[in-house]
Amino acid sequence: MLGVLREKFRLLMGLTIVLLFIWEANAAPEIRIGLSLDGKRQEFSGNLILFVGKKLNFKGFYSSFTVSAVGENLKVTIGKKSFFTPRITVVAKSGFVGISGKKYRGKIECWAKGGRLVLVNVVDLEDYLKGVVPKEMGPNFPEEALKAQAVIARTYALKHLKRHSREGYDLCDTQHCQVYGGVNVENPKTTRAVTETYGIVLMYKGELVNAFYTASCGGRTASSKEAWGRRIPYLVSHADPFCKSIGDFSWKASVSLRTLTYLLREVGVSCGNIKKVYVYKKTGSGRVSRVAIVGNCGRKILKVSTFKYALNRDKLRLKSTLFRIKVNGSKVYFYGKGFGHGVGLCQWGAYGMAKQGYTWRQILKFYYPGVLLRKIY
Ligand SMILES: [Zn+2]
Ligand SMILES: [Zn+2]
Repeated sequence: MLGVLREKFRLLMGLTIVLLFIWEANAAPEIRIGLSLDGKRQEFSGNLILFVGKKLNFKGFYSSFTVSAVGENLKVTIGKKSFFTPRITVVAKSGFVGISGKKYRGKIECWAKGGRLVLVNVVDLEDYLKGVVPKEMGPNFPEEALKAQAVIARTYALKHLKRHSREGYDLCDTQHCQVYGGVNVENPKTTRAVTETYGIVLMYKGELVNAFYTASCGGRTASSKEAWGRRIPYLVSHADPFCKSIGDFSWKASVSLRTLTYLLREVGVSCGNIKKVYVYKKTGSGRVSRVAIVGNCGRKILKVSTFKYALNRDKLRLKSTLFRIKVNGSKVYFYGKGFGHGVGLCQWGAYGMAKQGYTWRQILKFYYPGVLLRKIY
């Protein structure tokens, strides 16, 4: 009798383990996001549970406390009492963890390094995306375009996991990785775009895709080869009829020859007084790659990156490298198209496609030819 029971128990345990495994395989992974908040002192608020020390000992339930960095230690102040600990973990019993006016899903880990706080939001990847997509594409964009952007953000996050592993997290919350604003920036429309594409990523030959995107390609996307010198099979240049006349499709800028002389000198390019400037060389998609300046020194050929950097340092003049130059008297005029590097998905093109009834899958396949959409959890 006992033998039979033991056998049944074993079977049950085995089944539980298998079920747990299946459940695990289908869950979104957790991601660690380094928060770029003030590093000296932070105020936590909410319906919080506080764990302290390296062994995460339970400390208690609190509605608010402050944390400041003292060398390699944290000073935690609750009411009028303070104590030191090497690290804390903060979990919300209900709602979210508040840090100086911002709210976060998941939990917050905090420690000090060289007198500065390190704040890490450990969060379910899908919850993380809810705070990313609205920062990348406005919620005023059509639903299918937002879904395409959600797939891009998910693919990017998974491809770049461990980018900041030396600092103790996966990704930072700035432009360097992906801008993440937590619960405060969430919007029902972008959240729906995340949940309706749950677990879906872009793959090419079994690998996650480099899903670059640009605000507007100006009518023709740029290849990765012409932009960065590296050929990626799904980042090729092709015509884009969908972004025409919407959003950042065209722009104009002007600068006097005198200001141009000054701006270039600021970045170490001098040729006396510049009298003429023109496009010297273009790339395959028609973008400028070299600019010629003519001045007292004769003629100089500049890389467009140098030229663009000089002109955009004090204010944004050149939104892309897809432009024409015209000099009229003492003024230089730029007539340009597109906004950004032009590689990968064109956001205004995705807007146009969605408005014409294309689905998010069709949008992604148009901008990343040859890639596969895979549900990985
Ligand atoms: Zn980063
Ligand atoms: Zn476009």
